Formats: sequence, structure tokens, C-alpha cells
Amino acid sequence: MPIRLMRFLGLKTLRGKLRLYTVLLTTLPFLLATLFFFLFERQQVLGNSLGQLVSSLEHECSVMRSWINERFENAWFIAETDVVKRGDVQAMQSLFAAYHNTHRFVSDVAYVSPEGAMVAPLLATPGIYVGDRQYFQEAKAGRASLTSLAQGRSSGKPICLFTVPVTRPDGGFGGAVALIVRLESLDQWLLEAKVQPGGGVLLCDGEGRILAPSSAVAAGGGPGEAMAARDVLGAGERGAVLRAGDGPARLAAAVPVGRDGWRLASEVPVSDVLTRYREQTLWLLLAAAATFMMVAPLVRRLSRNLEEPLVSLAGYARTLRATRYRESCPADFPKNAPTEIGELHDAFCQMAGEMRAHIDEVERISVEDALTGLYNRRFLFSGGLKLLEASLRANRPCSCLMLDVDYFKNVNDAFGHAAGDRALAHLARVLARCVRKSDLAARYGGEEFAVLLTGADSGQATALAERIRASLAERPCPVDGIFVPLTCSIGVAEARKRVEYGESALEDMLARADKALYAAKASGRDRVVVDEAGK
Ligand code: GH3
Ligand code: MG
Ligand code: MG
Repeated sequence: MPIRLMRFLGLKTLRGKLRLYTVLLTTLPFLLATLFFFLFERQQVLGNSLGQLVSSLEHECSVMRSWINERFENAWFIAETDVVKRGDVQAMQSLFAAYHNTHRFVSDVAYVSPEGAMVAPLLATPGIYVGDRQYFQEAKAGRASLTSLAQGRSSGKPICLFTVPVTRPDGGFGGAVALIVRLESLDQWLLEAKVQPGGGVLLCDGEGRILAPSSAVAAGGGPGEAMAARDVLGAGERGAVLRAGDGPARLAAAVPVGRDGWRLASEVPVSDVLTRYREQTLWLLLAAAATFMMVAPLVRRLSRNLEEPLVSLAGYARTLRATRYRESCPADFPKNAPTEIGELHDAFCQMAGEMRAHIDEVERISVEDALTGLYNRRFLFSGGLKLLEASLRANRPCSCLMLDVDYFKNVNDAFGHAAGDRALAHLARVLARCVRKSDLAARYGGEEFAVLLTGADSGQATALAERIRASLAERPCPVDGIFVPLTCSIGVAEARKRVEYGESALEDMLARADKALYAAKASGRDRVVVDEAGK
């Protein structure tokens, strides 16, 4: 992910990352379940439902076949009665009426004479010629036939004819008996035969016209005009998923009844089949939302518990850098911080303290003379220059002393180098006791020392030099039980703006003090000489 986008979404921060992971963790099960369903389960669910649809239709078809067979058995029974065989029209009328009374779904029973005239119809117009009709031709050929008429003559509703041939007692063709059945009578059964929730069963003839139930016939634009059936019939006996234009997808199947191309067809909207899964998905989504609502405050608290101490620690780290490790640990460190961060904070504070101590030590070593504890020569030139320049800017006087121990080589020669070192430390103590805190006393090198006196003119500096000289003379250095007398010569010089020696006013002043010191040595030692050139 590009860094700018991550920054925009806050993903570079701990809080942003935790927020993202929480959203992912709470919604991922839902997303994966939905994805899994669409990739694998959906097809399986649709396949299973289609299989169920087909097997239910097959069951309904076997019921339908029994119904048809029953009608044919009735027709055969009538055709084989004596009165029909003999062609006794008169007797036939009462037989047909009796039959009609006990089988109300049969709208009419007809007898067609061998010449093709309908001579014994119960209700329909008698005498009409049907010799050219297919069902009569079939009967003439000795075969029973099932004929569907999309529109009955009297009711205008689909009917069908169960026609069987009649054989005269002498074995000749004796015409035909036809049971005329209103397909409306199948309505109840077809409506109850719900092969799938939301899907009803249609009865279609070989030409794809809807015959029943009558509600579907009416919805299809009238008898025989139900074109929608053709779409369903296209699904075939194994079933298929149909998509007609922008309409919703449907599971459909059309299973042959096994007689004259009749089929039972049914269709179910895919959305109805998937209702249970849609509900499941909704529950999953609700569960994800509820989990998020429960987890979010906990994560927010965790994020605060992690973030606050880390922010505090980062702020402390920045302050440490800015103050060169002088800042001490923050007292307001969050108390509810996790133990690990608390330990990190403690270790960090301890490291900062140790770092400060090391820096102090290094800074001290870098400016201090190890033997005497006075400032070293390096600091005399760096710190001394700042003091001198500040004095000159403020128009205040500034002076320096240059001090050298007299005949120090003799001390070394007589008592050894270690004793010489102790003598130098003794002198440093005397010197430190005489100068003020604002003065800068440094070991210049070997047995030579320099003192920078801010706010002091050469007169005041000379007075101090005399005090130092006298103080040293009064305090001999104890070496191995013997008090070794020490004296020193001191040169004094006052700062001036004009630089004649060296490159700075400090170098100039030190050089002149050194010259005065040389003069003190030359004139007999253990004395103070003032540089007159600086006055
Ligand atoms: P002068 O009065 O002319 O200054 O005589 P001096 O002997 O003090 O001077 P010189 O320059 O001849 O000798 C200085 C001696 O100081 C030489 C050296 O061994 C000694 N010295 C310098 N630094 C140290 C030190 O750190 N410790 C010890 N023990 N001796 C030192
Ligand atoms: Mg010397
Ligand atoms: Mg000396």
C-alpha cells in the first residue's frame, strides 16, 4: 500500500493499525463465509434444489399417469358394456347419465357411431359429424387416444377426451366411447402439489399449452396461449436454471407424464431457494457487527493503554536529546501501562540516567587536569576565551596570572617524581583556596599554572598574586614526614583589546603574563612582576 495512502488512513500509527486489524478480524469470518458460499455452496444448493424439483415432479407424474389410466379404465368399462356394444342408444343414455352422476369431473360422455356421428352425447349437441377427427381415426384403428382441447366448446376451458374403440358382439368396429373431462377438476390436486416452496405444478400438452391449473391458464392469457410454459418446458426433464432477459433467475423442470407428450412443469425463483442462506448471511453480518461493537471498546482501551505510555516515552526521548540528557524521567507516566512497557520505561530512564552520568564524567575529564583537579590547558583556551570576550564586551577589566614553581627540578631530584606530583597537587590546593569561584585556575603545563580573573584589573590581580605567593611560602609541602618549602614566581598581565602576541586577546594577555613571569625569574624568583605594557 502506498505510504501516502497509509498515512491518510492513519495506518502508520499504532491506533490506525489496531483499528484496521479489528475491522479485518471481526468482518473476515463474514466475508470468508459469504465468499465460500458464492464460490462453492451456492452451486451445490441450487443443484440439490433442482434435483428435488425433478424428483418431486417425477412423483407427481406417476400420480398423473394413474389418474389417466383410471379414466381410460372407465372408458373401457363403458365401451365393453352390453348396451354400448350393441349400439343401443336409448339404453346408453341412462348408463351415461348414471356414470355422469357419480363422476362429476366428467363433463360429458359421448358415443360416436361407426360412421362418425356423435349419436349419444349426454350434454353436447348430438348428431354432429366427428368422423374426420384424429381421436375417431385412432379408435377406428383400434387404439385408445388421449386428446387435449385447449378450449372446450361449452365452457371455453381446457378439456380432454379419453377415447376408446367399441367392438361389436360380432367383432366388428362399433364406434367409440369418449369421456370428456374438464381439466379444471385437476386444480385442487395441482395446487396442493407444491414440489418446492413457492413453486406450483403446471400441466402442459405435447404442444406446450398449459392445460391446468385453470388459474395458470387464465394468467397465461387464456386457454392455449400460455407461452410462458414454453420457457419452462425448455428446462427439460433434468431441469435447468433459467434466465429470461432481465427477469429473475429460476429453477425449472418439465417431466413427461408418459402419455401423448403431456408434461408436468414447475419453476421456482432462485431467490426463494436461497432465502434460508440469505437469512444466514444476514445473521452472520449481524454477528460480525455485534462482535465489532463488543470488541471495539476493548481494542480502543488497549490502544490507549499502549499508545499513551509510548507517546510519553517518545516525548521524553525527544526532550532528552534537546536537553543533552539533562531531563529526568517524567513523573506522570501512565500507571495502567502494560508491564512490558513499564519495564521499557524503567530501563529507558535508567539508561538515560547512566548516560547523563557518563556525559558528566566525560565532560569533567575533558576540562579537568587529572593530577591537580584544576582546569586543564584546553579549557583555559576555550572557556577562558569566552570569559575574556564577555568581560571585554561588558567593558569590565580582566587579568591573568602566570605562575611557575621555583627550582622544581630540585624537588623531583631530591624526593622523586611521585613526591614532585604531590607537591604540584599541594600547590593546586593553595591556589584554589586563594581564588574566587568566578576565577578560572588551570594547569598550564608541567609546573606552570595560569589563573584568569574576571572583573579584576592588574592591581587587584597583583594583590591576589602576592596572596598566593605568600600563602605558598607559608605552607611547605609535607613529603615523607619532611616539610619541603616551595616558592613560586608569578607574572601578571591585564587584558587589552589590541592583540600584539598570538591571535586573540587571551593569547596576547597570556604571552605578556609569561614575559612578566620570565622577568620575575630573572630578577631572583619568589616574586610577582606586572606586565607594564598592558597598562
Ligand atoms: P625554574 O626555577 O627556572 O623554573 O627551575 P625549574 O627547575 O623549576 O625549571 P625547569 O624547567 O628546569 O624544570 C622543571 C621541572 O619540572 C622539570 C620536570 O621534570 C618537572 N616537571 C614538569 N612536569 C612535572 C610533573 O607533572 N610532575 C613532576 N613530578 N615533575 C614535573
Ligand atoms: Mg617551568
Ligand atoms: Mg620552575
